[in-house]
Amino acid sequence: MNPFADTLQSLRDAFNSGRTRPAEFRAAQLEGLSRFLKENRDALLAALAQDLHKSPFESEISEISICQSEINMALNNLRSWMKDEHVSKNLATQLDKVFIRREPYGVVLIISPWNYPLNLILVPLVGAIAAGNCVVLKPSEMSKSVEKIISERLPCYLDKDCFSVVLGGPQETSSLLENKFDYIFFTGNPSVGRIIMAAASQYLTPITLELGGKNPCYVDDNCDPQNVANRVAFFRFFNAGQTCVAPDYLLCSQQMQEKLLPALQNAVTQFYGKDPQSSPDLGRIINDKHFQRLRGLLGSGQVAIGGQSDEEERYIAPTVLVDVKETDPVMQEEIFGPILPILNVQSIDEAITFIRKREKPLALYTFSNDSEVVHQMLEHTSSGGFCGNDGFMHMTLTTLPFGGVGNSGMGMYHGKFSFDTFSHQRACLLRSSGLEKLNSLRYPPYAQRSLGLLLSTVEISRRSQCTLL
Ligand code: NAD
Repeated sequence: MNPFADTLQSLRDAFNSGRTRPAEFRAAQLEGLSRFLKENRDALLAALAQDLHKSPFESEISEISICQSEINMALNNLRSWMKDEHVSKNLATQLDKVFIRREPYGVVLIISPWNYPLNLILVPLVGAIAAGNCVVLKPSEMSKSVEKIISERLPCYLDKDCFSVVLGGPQETSSLLENKFDYIFFTGNPSVGRIIMAAASQYLTPITLELGGKNPCYVDDNCDPQNVANRVAFFRFFNAGQTCVAPDYLLCSQQMQEKLLPALQNAVTQFYGKDPQSSPDLGRIINDKHFQRLRGLLGSGQVAIGGQSDEEERYIAPTVLVDVKETDPVMQEEIFGPILPILNVQSIDEAITFIRKREKPLALYTFSNDSEVVHQMLEHTSSGGFCGNDGFMHMTLTTLPFGGVGNSGMGMYHGKFSFDTFSHQRACLLRSSGLEKLNSLRYPPYAQRSLGLLLSTVEISRRSQCTLL
């Protein structure tokens, strides 16, 4: 028997009892989440520091505050999100009630990674609760201190019959995935995404895949090198570069590279001091395996800034690499660490060709004083999100969908998009049981003259040709 079968059966029973559906229940769980964040704030900050050497500043803005905003947004809008959406009708349905009902899927699974271990489990959870689902949470086994708080303390703030935390790594998750879920929400790397998708296909379970990849950052000759360097360095070295939407590599001309290098060095020194290893604001690499992987990538091209590492602390200095070739190891995988390679291109057209040859990224960045250049990049490329003249500011807005495209994922969330992701949109039409005469046109024996009349009640006409309305 599958070790998770009993847990899932009791969640399914709870869902089938209908208790997660009322707005009051959903709001009470969201209030519980809010209390969890407030009452465990210090423990969470300590756990994030322990797992990733995350500074309280970074933890507040990228984990706790984002979760709190999502909770507040859901609480502020829950009742209006839950309302049936009435839609326009054709002539044949004028007397009917026609609407979209957003109903919960049922028992959903949320699997999360280690790099923002609180944010990436709680933000989807907010959407799943708001939409009225029961949930199994599978936090990352790598961010051990946060995993411990999620498994030991979070359940005290939620209805235990409806929400469950499951622990473990790939083996336990594989066994969990043998069970039928009504929705799976996965955040992680694209190769594990394929495993999740294959497991979901067994039951035709709908999924969201929030994946990663290499996010290009094009820097035009027409920009202020120091402004660009400050913004790129901040977003590349935030959380020691372990961010799915971080700029992964820079594309710029040789001339711009010469201006950017001193500016980047200046930004690194301003942010982290002369000895970044002693800065309280610079994170560490999550584990030895990732540390060794990143240390290997330091051998690509030439080190222009940084390059130092310390195995004992899993420290990698904020590093910039130049003379990097497309074929170098650093360009073959998502870097996911504090290393920024620069590759030279002669023009925006060459940058666009370079980007379009590769998988569609999760995020794409373009820096230029010329808005035409920013729009040209936006127009000729595709990515999950796009930001002109900054790093991942676009993902701080709950009014924008967050998600990938192609190899960087499918589906979206944040704010109302999370609620919609965890809801099935049910098409509903309610008709009177009387007025049968109106239906006679459609019944056999079919008459040619009825057809024209019938079609005029259901067919959509081109606006310019419409004579009916
Ligand atoms: P990962 O894919 O290794 O792990 C994610 C989760 O999947 C973990 O909970 C893990 O236990 C589970 N898992 C791992 N291997 C599995 C397997 N074989 N079978 C079943 N489950 C398995 O990812 P990670 O290393 O934790 O995180 C880094 C990746 O996540 C990067 O690629 C990054 O870009 C991506 N990411 C994406 C987003 C986003 O929002 N798109 C956010 C953060 C991270």
